[in-house]
Amino acid sequence: MKLILLGPPGAGKGTQAKMLMDRFGIPQISTGDILRAAVKDGTPMGLKAKSFMDAGGLVPDEVVVGIVRERLQKADCAKGFILDGFPRTVLQADALKESLLALGKDLDAVVSLDVDVEALVERLTGRRTCRDCGRGFHVKFDPPLVSGKCDTCGGDLLQRDDDQELTIRHRLEVYSEQTSPLVDYYRSAGLLTAVDGMQEIGVVQDQVLRSLQAG
Ligand code: ADP
Ligand code: AMP
Repeated sequence: MKLILLGPPGAGKGTQAKMLMDRFGIPQISTGDILRAAVKDGTPMGLKAKSFMDAGGLVPDEVVVGIVRERLQKADCAKGFILDGFPRTVLQADALKESLLALGKDLDAVVSLDVDVEALVERLTGRRTCRDCGRGFHVKFDPPLVSGKCDTCGGDLLQRDDDQELTIRHRLEVYSEQTSPLVDYYRSAGLLTAVDGMQEIGVVQDQVLRSLQAG
């Protein structure tokens, strides 16, 4: 299964990707996670990406295209992969097409998650992530059993620096300007299925799975 999850920040891509990863035994490739790890480790790529991420803008195409090109060549992608947060521009989508062609692979599906802007803001301001294992929660929609602690490993739950309302609203504008054209891009390619992402996490999951089986 070679899949893209498309949708604005907060649509639930990471939440759904983790469930699909467990179910199909294929890796989630989140460019946001890879970039945050590079920033944390202070690598040259992380240093280059940090200012763009802090401001809620996009990291330059050549940086993320290079990350994904390398990642797709790893052995664990042989059975498939779930791209989460990539591509985000038409240039990235064209570059992905080339990378896959070079590897003799093809996308199976692009699932877009549709969520209203105000719901996205509420989801992102309430998002919390475990510092140790990366599991995601939401203070209202997916709360941990013990406030501030991860159900899986007991680690501290943190709020991302870019999940502040002003930065969130900027990220949503960037999505609408630079990433939303990809909906038509993949619809024209006959790969797109749209899922109503406003429903509960489990319902969205069922519909994503159903759309993959139908495809
Ligand atoms: P993305 O990866 O698209 O930015 P996430 O998967 O991190 O989004 O989800 C953003 C926040 O919204 C998280 O706190 C998550 O727990 C919560 N969330 C995800 N899906 C839903 C949903 N269907 N309903 C309510 N909250 C959700
Ligand atoms: P995310 O975790 O997907 O919300 O991404 C967090 C931030 O990482 C974004 O706001 C961008 O600054 C950067 N980023 C992640 N993926 C990409 C991408 N495909 N292209 C450009 N920037 C990206």
